[in-house]
Amino acid sequence: MTRPLDAIFSPRSVAVVGASRRRDSLGFSLLHNLVVNELNGAIFPVNPQARAIHSLKCYPSVAAIPDPVDLAVIMVPRDLVQGVVEECLAKGVGGLVVITAGFSETGEEGAALERRLRETVRAAGVRMIGPNCMGVINADPAVRLDATFAPTPAQHGAIGFVSQSGALGVAILNVAQDLGVGLTQFVSMGNKADVSGNDLLEHWEDDPETKVIAMYLESFGNPRRFTEIAKRVTRKKPILVVKSGRTAEGARAATSHTGAIAGTDVTVSAFLDQCGVLRANTIEELFDVARALARCPLPGGFRVGIVTNAGGPGIMATDACVNLGLHMAELSDATRATLRSFLPREASVVNPVDMIASATAEHYARTVAAVLDDPQVDMAMVINVTPILTNPIDVMEAIGAVARERTKPVLAVMMATEEFYDAVKTARDLPPVYHFPESAARVMFLLARYAAWRRRPADLPAPEFDTDDAQVAAILDATPEGYLDPAATFRVLELYGVPLVRWRLARARDEALAAAREIGFPVVLKAVAPGLVHKSDIGAVQVDLRGEAELAKAAAEMERRITAAGHPLEAFLVQEMARGGHEVIFGITTDPRFGPLLMFGLGGKYVEVFQDVRFAVTPLDAEEAREVIRGIRGFKLLEGVRGEPGADLELLAEILLRLAQLSQRHPRIRELDINPFLAGHDRAIARALDARIRVGQT
Ligand code: ADP
Ligand code: MG
Repeated sequence: MTRPLDAIFSPRSVAVVGASRRRDSLGFSLLHNLVVNELNGAIFPVNPQARAIHSLKCYPSVAAIPDPVDLAVIMVPRDLVQGVVEECLAKGVGGLVVITAGFSETGEEGAALERRLRETVRAAGVRMIGPNCMGVINADPAVRLDATFAPTPAQHGAIGFVSQSGALGVAILNVAQDLGVGLTQFVSMGNKADVSGNDLLEHWEDDPETKVIAMYLESFGNPRRFTEIAKRVTRKKPILVVKSGRTAEGARAATSHTGAIAGTDVTVSAFLDQCGVLRANTIEELFDVARALARCPLPGGFRVGIVTNAGGPGIMATDACVNLGLHMAELSDATRATLRSFLPREASVVNPVDMIASATAEHYARTVAAVLDDPQVDMAMVINVTPILTNPIDVMEAIGAVARERTKPVLAVMMATEEFYDAVKTARDLPPVYHFPESAARVMFLLARYAAWRRRPADLPAPEFDTDDAQVAAILDATPEGYLDPAATFRVLELYGVPLVRWRLARARDEALAAAREIGFPVVLKAVAPGLVHKSDIGAVQVDLRGEAELAKAAAEMERRITAAGHPLEAFLVQEMARGGHEVIFGITTDPRFGPLLMFGLGGKYVEVFQDVRFAVTPLDAEEAREVIRGIRGFKLLEGVRGEPGADLELLAEILLRLAQLSQRHPRIRELDINPFLAGHDRAIARALDARIRVGQT
């Protein structure tokens, strides 16, 4: 035993303090699980009121146990826990699991007890899981530890699973059993007073048996440390996370577009993406992906070959793949000729390959081999709708034999009976099998995403831009709290190298005329007024004013309109009329846990309607910035469609990086929107047309 958590995961002796004879108690269930799973070691029940429990000799106290104790599982009433822990430490136990609840989850009194517990174990250098947890499992056949009170045991497999919720832990073990998924170890962390999710990541990082790490999380204790560890661990093995809940943290009052769209949930997704962690939406999806990661090699890219014996599911599979951003592989002439040579004439030999209903196991084997051997194919989805004549198990075995000899992932979609699933679900040498093409497509997408992460260069530094930050700070500091005025806002952007449309501020109508003459017609006129944030809502923006008369009239009307709307005019903003390009939005908002958050997406007046945006946490490297830009649904628009020129994508990525630097160096910025930014096909015409910056106290 050399690693810090070994005494907990691989104990040669376990004391159960608070074991009980009452069959309906947790203290009995846990002891029972240890016994029936045949722990490879000694079990010592501790209870001063009993002579024997579950046919095991019972001890009145930990101190009374004559043998050494590696692991103590504690389930005594809350107020006795501290004393028992101290007794265990005096006895020299190697590790602790505290099941007892009633600590920080119940309020300040419990939190104080929990802090004391932490200080005690930390001072002794002994690791503790819990309190308020469901226990731990090590399914390794050499250990066979089940120190939980869950009714479902865990099969041995390749997944390390940590759950922040005890109640959900029980459900997780049930789902794992239903799907035939095996685990290396399972931990319910409870309140994480000592051992955290980060510690478990490090524990599994170098454990050769654990091929996949799965986490059910409700919160991130320390996002910065998680980032550091996860970025390192995901280089070696995948981490899958189900993160529950949109928490109250997300419900912040926000007036900017960015603030209104951002919520904790998108933040978490962006954060996990940037750590290379895969996010699943449900426990079931997590296991779907975990099964594939545990059994399949990683794909070389996003191109899928589909093989089916029925047209409908082939089309469903194609739609699902394409919608997720996977590509349908284009099969080569050679592959098509091979397929033609043995498939019936009615078969379709383009992707999706439809072998038609007469396909035999032999047809499956030859077709899947030909498709996988095509260099255009990165992975294959093999669909079988069970006809009367072929046995789906034969089909599975035929596919399995082909897949085992290849280095590309193969996923099976079998529309077959539950008996079939019961027969194949635990067969680890067969490809992972799914009920529907949509689930398999989602798994393939996450596999490809993870493979892309592994190919990506590690630890790119965030680029640095030469900026006059003293001057930026001086401008920001002139506003104690709230929105900067337009001139200050534009100055900050100028100092950070964001290209701006030509603009002038004019205090009165005649000044506006002079400004327009300087800029050159046509111009755009906007009103500046205290508290006026969304200008076009109240008619405070007039575009394409072509001459002095038009401008003068527009200015007079605008002043009347906005005064009537309760916004006394402070000044006019006159801008050059910009044309061409796509309206995009850049934004900064701040998250209480994750810090500054960047946003990019399609902009203009309809941002909130389409919400086609992506977020990124800081710091941000150049490749991450490009991924954010490429990641919006409407990216094709920016690349240029139907003969329209595309946008200068490198410039967009650069602006995102510049804003990342701004947000990190100037934490007083709470929200920033540049909307719209007109993204032209070349730098010369790309510029910001409107922006706002809100600052807060530090
Ligand atoms: P707000 O967002 O406060 O309503 P904007 O300044 O963003 O006001 O203007 C609203 C819309 O008017 C923009 O989305 C853009 O389509 C158009 N617009 C604003 N400024 C210009 C400009 N200088 N050139 C061309 N169009 C502009
Ligand atoms: Mg705007």
